[in-house]
Amino acid sequence: MSLSETLFQRAQLTIPGGVNSPVRAFKSVGGSPVFIERADGAYLYDVDGKRYIDYIGSWGPMLLGHNHPAIRDAVIKAAANGLSFGAPCPAEIDMAEKVAQLVPSMEMVRMVSSGTEATMSAIRLARGYTGRDTILKFEGCYHGHADSLLVKAGSGALTLGVPNSPGVPADFAKYTLTCEFNNLAQVEQIFAEKGADIACIIVEPVAGNMNCIPPEPGFLEGLRRICDQYHSVLIFDEVMTGFRVALGGAQAVYQVTPDLTTLGKIIGGGMPVGAFGGKRAIMEQIAPLGPVYQAGTLSGNPIAMAAGLAALTEISKPGVYEKLTAKTSQLITGLGNAAQQHGVPMTFNQVGGMFGFFFSSETRVSNYQHATQCDGDAFKRFFHLMLQQGIYLAPSAFEAGFLSLAHSDDDLAATVDAAAKSFAAL
Ligand code: PMP
Repeated sequence: MSLSETLFQRAQLTIPGGVNSPVRAFKSVGGSPVFIERADGAYLYDVDGKRYIDYIGSWGPMLLGHNHPAIRDAVIKAAANGLSFGAPCPAEIDMAEKVAQLVPSMEMVRMVSSGTEATMSAIRLARGYTGRDTILKFEGCYHGHADSLLVKAGSGALTLGVPNSPGVPADFAKYTLTCEFNNLAQVEQIFAEKGADIACIIVEPVAGNMNCIPPEPGFLEGLRRICDQYHSVLIFDEVMTGFRVALGGAQAVYQVTPDLTTLGKIIGGGMPVGAFGGKRAIMEQIAPLGPVYQAGTLSGNPIAMAAGLAALTEISKPGVYEKLTAKTSQLITGLGNAAQQHGVPMTFNQVGGMFGFFFSSETRVSNYQHATQCDGDAFKRFFHLMLQQGIYLAPSAFEAGFLSLAHSDDDLAATVDAAAKSFAAL
């Protein structure tokens, strides 16, 4: 038995399912998860001494590669001054200013400690600001695990087949309306019926929790128009896309400006961080300035701010996104060619440094229904064949893939080579 398997057995005695976040348990692909000892650059090293080329990147934060020296040094330097103050510190202002500079629609910013907190707080704010209770989300989009958002959710909820979680009272869930992603006509219809009650639309501008699904032309623009018409708040959940698809996030790519934006992952450089922000008039409703309550013991934590600021400084350097996008294109072109050579029908999506692949002969995968119709068995077998060859992909067909700047041409070539062998074996 490998050390990972031994640890997984031990973990299951005291940790539900042996993991602290469900997808990590490999439940949908089968087998035993790999326990990681350390990570560096493009690689993860497991407790049994095996090296993997990593395409999860801690589910997005590791855009610069693991254990980046600038971030590590910033954390060590900040730690020398104490780990948490529970009082304001200068780095929080630097962070808010940096975010406002990179994402100009975020005129004011509040830091939190996870993406879940960011979306939960943004929704409370939208409700408080509009005085309305109903919210609208999209099928297969995941916005963290706050009660009203675990309705037709994506990511782990979808992977484990519980997109509507027990424990969410029906009385809460009834305030969450869901539409099909990329289906503007449906949104228009729902607003025509209930628009005066809808506080906000929350959307992943590029869906990354039912694999990777970009918005179709006009979709985000249409959401903006509808929110303006009905005085609802448009929230872009850029926890995944922020600083991933472009420096200014998906809103910079598609040139659509939301009222509120949520961020996470990269903004913390690997530390537990999230943020929400947006229009000044809305953000001024947050306590202590306004009546909408929101707080956090560790919010704006000095170590997390130091890590996040170091990450944002590095990714603001010229050429980062050109390089990241080119590497990602290189990978999916290689994978696409290999699949074609072996007669495996596949479709690929990419936006900047985020990608998705589907075992499907459909050329267009644009919503939850398409994503769930792909060949799940082929994915499972592919996942394990790749893992055996030292390629660490997300253990679910409903997650996006993430590259880092640390992935070298050799890493990409090795990945394509392993994929070709896996396709042949399928
Ligand atoms: N929103 C989106 C778009 C996400 O992808 C995620 C997590 N993958 C979240 C919110 C929740 O973030 P966290 O896991 O940090 O709570």
